Amino acid sequence: MRVLLIEDDRMVGAAVAQALKDAAYAVDWVTDGESAIEAAEVETYDVALLDLGLPVRDGREVLRRLRQNGRALPVIIVTARDGLDDRIDGLDLGADDYLVKPFEIRELLARMRAILRRPGSGTSPLLSNGVISLDPATHEAVHDGETCHLTAREFALLQALLTRPGTILSRSDLERHIYGWNEEVESNAVEFLIHAIRKKIGSAAIRNVRGVGWMVDRAS
Ligand code: CA
Repeated sequence: MRVLLIEDDRMVGAAVAQALKDAAYAVDWVTDGESAIEAAEVETYDVALLDLGLPVRDGREVLRRLRQNGRALPVIIVTARDGLDDRIDGLDLGADDYLVKPFEIRELLARMRAILRRPGSGTSPLLSNGVISLDPATHEAVHDGETCHLTAREFALLQALLTRPGTILSRSDLERHIYGWNEEVESNAVEFLIHAIRKKIGSAAIRNVRGVGWMVDRAS
């Protein structure tokens, strides 16, 4: 899952970016509203975290621009503005959720999971194709009745595949879900992760389509 973090406070931004990476998100962090609009135009994100008080263009304007361009990108406003009018205004402008600073990272992560499981996934918080189940809250995978714990990056990769069962994802598709802009990516990192996941959940769970990419089967 790829997150656009829009936050001009260096301390808050660095802390949130690190916490998101630890929780297996790929993070692109921008510090002003104009950069946020540009980033959302060139990159596809699963969710944006939007501060309201921002230089160049403020958060309300960023949100208005995102919605004008017809972007379905889920947005969580994360701000110190805690007034009822601010919260109502933010939600009416098209935000999906509103979190007031200071907040606990655990709550932010839970709200992100809640938003990310909405599209087409019914009510279950688990991602599953009928063969493998993955729990976004614990990073545990269940396969053949066996539960195993995945590292942050193993989780991010398997999550990318399980979100699109039956679809082949290329190496660069997978890298986009695992690494942010500033992260160094080893050329064979994806193969290493696939190998590690297969050791944990069985080699048949992820199929390699030679020269194209990897996939998990759609539920039958
Ligand atoms: Ca701010």
